Amino acid sequence: MKIEKAGETGFCFGVRRAIDILERVARERGSVETLGALVHNRQVLKRLSVIGVRVASSIDDIRGDIVVTGAHGISPQVEEELRSRQLTVVNTTCPFVLRAQKVAQRLARSGFLVIIYGDTNHPEVKGILGWANNVGMATLDAGSLASFEPLPRRLGVLAQTTQIPDHFTRFTKDLLGLVLAKDSELRVIDTICHDIRRRQAAAMDLASRVDLMLVTGDHTSANTNHLAELCSGTTTTRLIETADEVEPAWVQEYRRIGVTGGASTAEQTISEVLAKLEEYTGKS
Ligand code: SF4
Repeated sequence: MKIEKAGETGFCFGVRRAIDILERVARERGSVETLGALVHNRQVLKRLSVIGVRVASSIDDIRGDIVVTGAHGISPQVEEELRSRQLTVVNTTCPFVLRAQKVAQRLARSGFLVIIYGDTNHPEVKGILGWANNVGMATLDAGSLASFEPLPRRLGVLAQTTQIPDHFTRFTKDLLGLVLAKDSELRVIDTICHDIRRRQAAAMDLASRVDLMLVTGDHTSANTNHLAELCSGTTTTRLIETADEVEPAWVQEYRRIGVTGGASTAEQTISEVLAKLEEYTGKS
């Protein structure tokens, strides 16, 4: 039985940076609130709660005078609302998300309808749309633009930072087909994050060499789900949140097991999964 870890695991640059900032503020003040979950990972949120981090579910739920916003970013409208309530805002938006926000703002100011290839309910996407002054839409299906009659003259396309690059390419090709027939201008800007590209490539490389791939992360994390989706196209794949979900039967059933994790999954969680697999291997 062989157990192997993917080349890129642990917190991504943006999540590491956001957690560092949050921990520093929590240390300085004894406690602090975040607007919504800082990252989509319950294990990380549990650890942060121990150092005095409280998650405010909405602006109205904020009790203190300082709030930390997450790596996914927020819209300028939300930031303005926070400041109008005399709150000190510590913004931890990931620089890659910030780039997507600026791209959306620039496109909207130049008269483009902004189209975000992404999940309309994801906080990052909502924030980016806000930077486009809500002159735009989010979708995963290029066909949904067919409902525009007439199709806007200028269309500016970007991606949620954690989307799968190949799927974004397919989306833009479909869109191009639509635009060519309707006499519109199309501008495409690739805003997928570099960390996600490397992580997905490393996971796919490992998936091609194993019989079972364990993707470790939260079920609500977009990038973790994308990793699992990609790997499942190559080998048997399970999405697990912690080492507790590792099944003893796997080490007998599969000869080679690969382990990877989402961008908000701590290296410690990955190590626990590897240790559990080693433990079961020793017993088998
Ligand atoms: S996945 Fe990429 S865009 Fe998202 S927080 Fe991490 S580095 Fe930033």
